[in-house]
Amino acid sequence: MVVTGASTERTSWLVSALGAESFAVPGEPTVELVREGARHVQRAACDVIVAIGGGSAIDAGKAIAIIATNGGEPLDFLEVVGKGCAINMPPLPFIAVPTTAGTGSEVTRNAVLGSTEYGVKASLRSPLMLPRVALVDPELTYALPPAQTAATGLDALTQLIEPYVSARANPITDAICVDGIRRIAGALRRVYHDGADREARHEMALASLFGGLALANAGLGVVHGFAAPLGGSFKAPHGALCAAILPHGIAANVAALRVRAPRDPALERYVTIARLLTNRPDATAEDGIEWVRTICADLAIPPLRAWGVTDADLPGVAEKAAQASSMKANPLSLTREELLSVLAAAL
Ligand SMILES: [Zn+2]
Repeated sequence: MVVTGASTERTSWLVSALGAESFAVPGEPTVELVREGARHVQRAACDVIVAIGGGSAIDAGKAIAIIATNGGEPLDFLEVVGKGCAINMPPLPFIAVPTTAGTGSEVTRNAVLGSTEYGVKASLRSPLMLPRVALVDPELTYALPPAQTAATGLDALTQLIEPYVSARANPITDAICVDGIRRIAGALRRVYHDGADREARHEMALASLFGGLALANAGLGVVHGFAAPLGGSFKAPHGALCAAILPHGIAANVAALRVRAPRDPALERYVTIARLLTNRPDATAEDGIEWVRTICADLAIPPLRAWGVTDADLPGVAEKAAQASSMKANPLSLTREELLSVLAAAL
């Protein structure tokens, strides 16, 4: 089965060459969509799943591959809102071919699914879910339009910054985070303005892959903690939500660390991030926040209210974010007031 995004045109040649089934994923994957995909796989007796697309297609493919062999219902295995049962059976062999840069989903062990019923996003997670093959070719991202280039590129940046300051950071992920942040700092504006910039697309594809490796091994933080409930309740792309929250999430962490954990190494790490982003050896954490704020504005990242989020939604979102799995790796635990102020600033 070939799993794609909304448009199946680009892969129709492959589907007919393989004599494969085709399964389109029109938006970010939901429990319902994965249930349908797994049934389709079983009916057609597919033996391999290939996902070609952005994070939505890859996460959907990953989830379908695991549900097809484990049987049952996606909610049985879903974290946070589901039963969180252990996944025991290996999935169908799964090949991931990303066309964005990106989510890094081609090298992670989870798939994020929305639950319409619970208004939240949560993960299916198992070491068995790591794709068998990740085929990362920057040429597949040349046609990505500027808005998606910006949102997915800033998601990739978030997925390098959060693991780098994470409570679970380790020397291996540190090395790839530093390298990836430097690459994005030099390439993101270039790919936004010229999608055919081969060198910059190459840098972004690599940095996105690094982000996936980093988050799978060191966790995420407050920005992704918010992206889970927001993405579950509002029709907004994951990358756009992360981008809208990123500068405010960093600012809140830096402020809280200064007051409550001034010796935490994460503070020094925010300075390193600022120096990588600005390419200035004397940059401060504030300069880094300003760099992120500026690139979000220059790349036309809309605020949360553009996706229908209102003041009245904020307390509920903050409540759910505090329970999100990503929040556990944040360098320190943020208070309810701090969480609300991040949301208010991103609104
Ligand atoms: Zn992300």
